[in-house]
Amino acid sequence: MSKNFGSKYIGAHVSAAGGVDQAPMRAREIGANAFALFTKNQRQWAAKPLEAKTISAFKANCKMLGFSADQILPHDSYLINLGAPEEEKREKSRAAFIDEMARCHQLGLTLLNFHPGSHLNKISESECLAAIAESINLAHQAVPEVIAVVENTAGQGSNLGWKFEHLAAIIEQVDDKSRIGVCLDTCHTFAAGYDLSSHEACEATFAEFDRVVGMRYLKAMHINDAKSTLGSKLDRHHALGKGHIGWACFEYIAKDARFDGIPLILETIEPDLWAAEIKQLRDWHCQA
Ligand SMILES: [Zn+2]
Ligand SMILES: [Zn+2]
Repeated sequence: MSKNFGSKYIGAHVSAAGGVDQAPMRAREIGANAFALFTKNQRQWAAKPLEAKTISAFKANCKMLGFSADQILPHDSYLINLGAPEEEKREKSRAAFIDEMARCHQLGLTLLNFHPGSHLNKISESECLAAIAESINLAHQAVPEVIAVVENTAGQGSNLGWKFEHLAAIIEQVDDKSRIGVCLDTCHTFAAGYDLSSHEACEATFAEFDRVVGMRYLKAMHINDAKSTLGSKLDRHHALGKGHIGWACFEYIAKDARFDGIPLILETIEPDLWAAEIKQLRDWHCQA
């Protein structure tokens, strides 16, 4: 088994200020061999189309710095709710999601990370999950190749996707299983009630994920410690080792080959620590 760190893709969610083509350099500066980014302002519905020169600069910078599509995890806008109870909001969300997916495709990217959606206490969980799956099916019909990577949530408010069963229900209703995947966020997983605070807890939680969803669907991870406590349903990220999850979980992920070959993205709250966090994860990977 090769132990080069090329097989572990570790990075952070970097800024795309000044253009998406600037993101690869910011990732390289912190020693990352993976990164996440927004391809448009994440707090606005509308965005200008990507310019041809931005697209070619992005592709050239990725190539120059050695980032391939499977090391890059674009994240969609926070405004999108693919399970929205009201038709008008759902249609608006679906159009925006298709635009996000098209932007990824233009940039030569193959993953799109998104939050599943919220029922807002107006429709049932199963109706909301069916609407999310149908939204993914529509996006698949509109845009080729890009894999929809649904993120598990902490379960705050009426957000679905905090139970592994929610993720399984979405996947079950997606027609093209080759274009649906999961991003597990360690903070969200822990806040949703799945313990990750020891080696044994990680063994049990990932076995449960494999049983309910299937490890083959794991296409990315967000690597965050949690200010929130186990089962609190609160989405509060922390720097690695400073929260209630602790280093054991991150050592486990770094050393376990099941987490090789997918983007492992820090969304921790102290960007000044990203380079050190990446180095620690990489050192463990090399020791494994
Ligand atoms: Zn996340
Ligand atoms: Zn979060």
